[in-house]
Amino acid sequence: MDGLNNNYRRVSRITIVNKSIILSDKDKQELAKYAESEKPYESCAILVGNETDENWTVKELVLTENTAKSEVTFTISPDKEFEVDQKAKKSNMEIVCIFHSHPESEAYPSETDKKFMRVNPFPWIIYSGKTKEMNCFILEDENVKQISII
Ligand SMILES: [Zn+2]
Repeated sequence: MDGLNNNYRRVSRITIVNKSIILSDKDKQELAKYAESEKPYESCAILVGNETDENWTVKELVLTENTAKSEVTFTISPDKEFEVDQKAKKSNMEIVCIFHSHPESEAYPSETDKKFMRVNPFPWIIYSGKTKEMNCFILEDENVKQISII
């Protein structure tokens, strides 16, 4: 199972981006709780807010269904993503982040994640059900870079 192995192969060489993502403790807790409740599957969410030159601010969480119902990957339906994007724009907001969890592995993007980060050029927050850590990343010029969550 190549797909499975790929998913657990961590990408190397991660540098930090000079821009942070602002996520409240309440939202962090809600995402962690959702991730734990969706086990053994990966969970996912779309985070809506605003982007400035200095940071991304998360204002709303949209908990979404992992339509792949998988322990090692996740899928958000394109219709759902479109709907969230349209609704956000009406409130002068935008999609600022994609969240998903790794139930049994660490909070770092897999090669599969990296592939999807290419087509979803937002910051990505990953929660580990194993270490309970939450990290944020973005793909820039084919390199995965880390974003501080503040
Ligand atoms: Zn992942």
